[in-house]
Amino acid sequence: MSENVEKIECLIIGSGPAGYTAAIYAARADMKPVLYEGMQPGGQLTITTDVENYPGYPDGIMGPEMMDNFKKQAVRLGTDVRFGMITKVDFSKGAPHKVWVDDKHEIEAESVIISTGASAKWLGIESETRLNGSGVSACAVCDGFFYRGLDVAIVGAGDTAAEEATYLSKICNKVYMLIRRDEMRASKAMQHRVENTANIEVLFNTETDEILGDMEVEGVRVHNNITNEKKEIPLKGFFVAIGHTPNTAIFKDIIDMDDQGYIITKPDTAKTNVEGVFACGDAQDRIYRQAVTAAGTGCMAALDAERYLSAKGHA
Ligand code: NDP
Repeated sequence: MSENVEKIECLIIGSGPAGYTAAIYAARADMKPVLYEGMQPGGQLTITTDVENYPGYPDGIMGPEMMDNFKKQAVRLGTDVRFGMITKVDFSKGAPHKVWVDDKHEIEAESVIISTGASAKWLGIESETRLNGSGVSACAVCDGFFYRGLDVAIVGAGDTAAEEATYLSKICNKVYMLIRRDEMRASKAMQHRVENTANIEVLFNTETDEILGDMEVEGVRVHNNITNEKKEIPLKGFFVAIGHTPNTAIFKDIIDMDDQGYIITKPDTAKTNVEGVFACGDAQDRIYRQAVTAAGTGCMAALDAERYLSAKGHA
């Protein structure tokens, strides 16, 4: 087994804005980064349509195209981008850290940058998948603007749903909040904000049966789980805000995480509790979750890794 071990100076796990930005900085610092793309090459932006809030694109850009540009830039500067999943890690003995690709290929990496992102949770109904990107979205800040002056709904009752409902209320004509229980989970302050917003209508005990529309969202069919009353609400946008899952399962019990699995980084750095292992992007950010903030922390991770390698006499 050991004769096949590949030695890498800087291994980057994940291919969203955080991973590619880390790669761009690492490549320019001559750290010879190798980036594994993971299960969803390009990350969450590849399932969105127009991106209008990433600075530098005055006319907006399609999510997949933007991620293709990130990749091209990383490759042009010398990143070795590979298709594959990191399936196991062993950070117990210090650097070089052991990592396995697709359970087979073994790597020893002097530094590791985790940029595995997070995945939005979905309701799991057929119409939600079919209309994803055609009116169904898991990011109001990204896509709310496309529903200016229109009616939309948002599912969820946590801080994200409440925050996104108030965000949408400023852009849209009317926002329905679809809440499955008879109360919200969101903080009292957020609940008050929702209650005090005239164009948000909260529907408690309400569950989604189907999102209506063939090519794009035209409405939603819901039912009240107490009275069983069904109704159809015409609308153009359907937002899902029922939480995210950080893609950090393989680091459990190895890297310090919060109770939801978000990696904990040391304040003002991308350093984790394991020396030589850095984290950036949505895998360590439960609050902002934007492409531009992910890219920013990707830059931090590469700079921290460069300093770490230099101090060890590697780069
Ligand atoms: P949460 O896990 O807090 O809330 C998820 C919500 O989605 C819950 O209300 C839950 O309902 C609902 N839900 C889950 N599954 C379904 C389903 N299948 N159908 C309908 N509803 C469903 O996630 P958030 O993303 O809101 O927040 C994550 C964390 O981030 C929290 O700790 C939050 O406080 C924090 N946060 C903080 C912010 C801030 O401080 N500004 C902003 C945003 C998030 P139920 O209540 O019935 O379980």
